[in-house]
Amino acid sequence: MIRKIIRRIFEKNGPSILPLEKHGIHREDVSSCARKVTSSLQEAGFSAFIVGGAVRDLVLGRKPKDFDVATDADPDEVRAIFKRSRIIGRRFRLVHVMCGAEVIEVSTFRRSHGLDEESEGRTDVHGRVLADNVFGNQEEDAQRRDFTVNALFYDPSTEEIWDYHDGFSDLKASRIRMIGDPETRYREDPVRMLRAVRFAAKLGMKLDRKTERPIATMGDLLQHVPAARLFEEMLKLLLSGHSVECILELRKAGLHHGLLPMLDVILEQPMGERFVMAALKNTDERIAEEKPVSPAFLFASLLWHEVLTYWKAAEEKGERPIPALYESMDHVLDIQQEKLAIPRRYTATMKEIWGLQPRFAQRSGRRPFQLMEHPRFRAAYDFLILRVASGEVEAETGVWWEIFQNASSEEREAMLVQDEAPKRRRRRRRPRAA
Ligand code: ATP
Ligand code: MG
Repeated sequence: MIRKIIRRIFEKNGPSILPLEKHGIHREDVSSCARKVTSSLQEAGFSAFIVGGAVRDLVLGRKPKDFDVATDADPDEVRAIFKRSRIIGRRFRLVHVMCGAEVIEVSTFRRSHGLDEESEGRTDVHGRVLADNVFGNQEEDAQRRDFTVNALFYDPSTEEIWDYHDGFSDLKASRIRMIGDPETRYREDPVRMLRAVRFAAKLGMKLDRKTERPIATMGDLLQHVPAARLFEEMLKLLLSGHSVECILELRKAGLHHGLLPMLDVILEQPMGERFVMAALKNTDERIAEEKPVSPAFLFASLLWHEVLTYWKAAEEKGERPIPALYESMDHVLDIQQEKLAIPRRYTATMKEIWGLQPRFAQRSGRRPFQLMEHPRFRAAYDFLILRVASGEVEAETGVWWEIFQNASSEEREAMLVQDEAPKRRRRRRRPRAA
């Protein structure tokens, strides 16, 4: 205790070092790969800790998604220690160390440029930090992290947690607190506002008052964040397993503006809201059951009611249904592209899922069989079920398709609806007037 007090006085920013008895995390709680990485680095004379989300999740008694390691070795030194490793990233170099299928991300301690004199020219006119790749010491590495609960360092060899910002007590108090001055930190990187909302929803924690307050007025800064980064962050949010809470929180904080620019509009239409919420709930349930979820499916759901609105409008203008649908899909994707760079590999699948929807109405002849052969049939069918659940499509259609899929071939033949469409009239040559 006395040593701790003395250290606090002499090293103003020194960490609290929490022993095993305080936090209860055993080295066996860490994956063997992560343990191997930290011990090999330490044997080579470097310091090495498990950092970030993994330590936070372990303290909360949750299973970490992955393990990240921070060290004072530079990327080349890390690379030299591990045979199966490679350096990734150009601007911001990290090392991926592989053991079997597991990948451990190893980063060198860095410091933030923040808004000190040195950072001049490294921020945009809104204060957003553009470069963040200068090595530093462990204390600086803690300082540059976003929330106190994300800045804990765990050393598997000593089973100690090094805590520079009282993250441990914040975790125990279920409090998300920004390191440093929240307003400045949001200005440096507006994405931290989304991260705050995501962690609060995902971990069932509360934002500390000072951390929460600036969000109400700073949301507009998100508009200056590159679209690709927003997309990544939005995806993390939607795949967090708590997307429903995240969306509700985003809306409450006014942060959905400029992200999915039309989400606001969608959520205000009763049908649209029901549909989006059903899709998100479905995603959260799949994640809880550890089933795979497809980002393309999710984004197709979020934007469906926009597509529907344009589709109907185009039809009313007299366009034929299918070309009108395709035109609406392109229109909606074009608008979203400016804000949210949805990668092409997803938009192609989204269009397929949307494009197959009218085909569920066709239940005669060979068409249902052809639809079932389509590689996207499963996703398109799941999408149809969401449309049914939201009341957009009659329940009977969903039931028909469910039975049809599971039926024998004779049963299927019997289920086909007689072709009621008027037969195309053969063109008969009119006898020419003599
Ligand atoms: P998750 O479990 O969702 O992956 P995480 O805390 O590991 O949560 P990551 O996005 O993987 O989140 O980031 C790893 C760590 O890097 C964080 O814990 C945090 O310390 C730091 N970090 C990430 N993004 C930022 C940011 N925008 N500003 C400051 N620090 C950040
Ligand atoms: Mg992580």
